[in-house]
Amino acid sequence: MTGTADIYHEMIIDYSRNPINFGEIKDHDVTFHDSNPLCGDSIDIDMKIDDNKVTDIKFHGKGCAICMACSSVLTEITKGKTLDEVRKIDKNDILSELGLEHLQAVRIKCALLSLKVVKSALYTYMGEHLNDSQDVDKLKEEAANLY
Ligand SMILES: [Zn+2]
Repeated sequence: MTGTADIYHEMIIDYSRNPINFGEIKDHDVTFHDSNPLCGDSIDIDMKIDDNKVTDIKFHGKGCAICMACSSVLTEITKGKTLDEVRKIDKNDILSELGLEHLQAVRIKCALLSLKVVKSALYTYMGEHLNDSQDVDKLKEEAANLY
């Protein structure tokens, strides 16, 4: 019999072998890079933004299975969302999708690196395009306190 944990485990392996939205967007509107030196995960995320909506998103770089799987899930969730909606994406939205709610602290950075990169890309874009710097500062803080 296959348990739920096994199904999630298979999903993670699957995503890491065939990541979704993997690649580059050459004419991106915003891009951001960050890494998790503890594990060696290193991710770039490119986004196209039109009319305050993420019309396309791709990630590239290298990462462990958890990092690749979470980046795939996150980019799927992000695509088509408004900037406000992207901002509200919570870490549990990603973790629950892959059954990782009880991940050990040391692996949480693997799982949430891409979310940190997306939030960082978002405040970079907002800083360039919006005048409300208070809002941008708040968003920076949110990204910094993700884990
Ligand atoms: Zn990792």
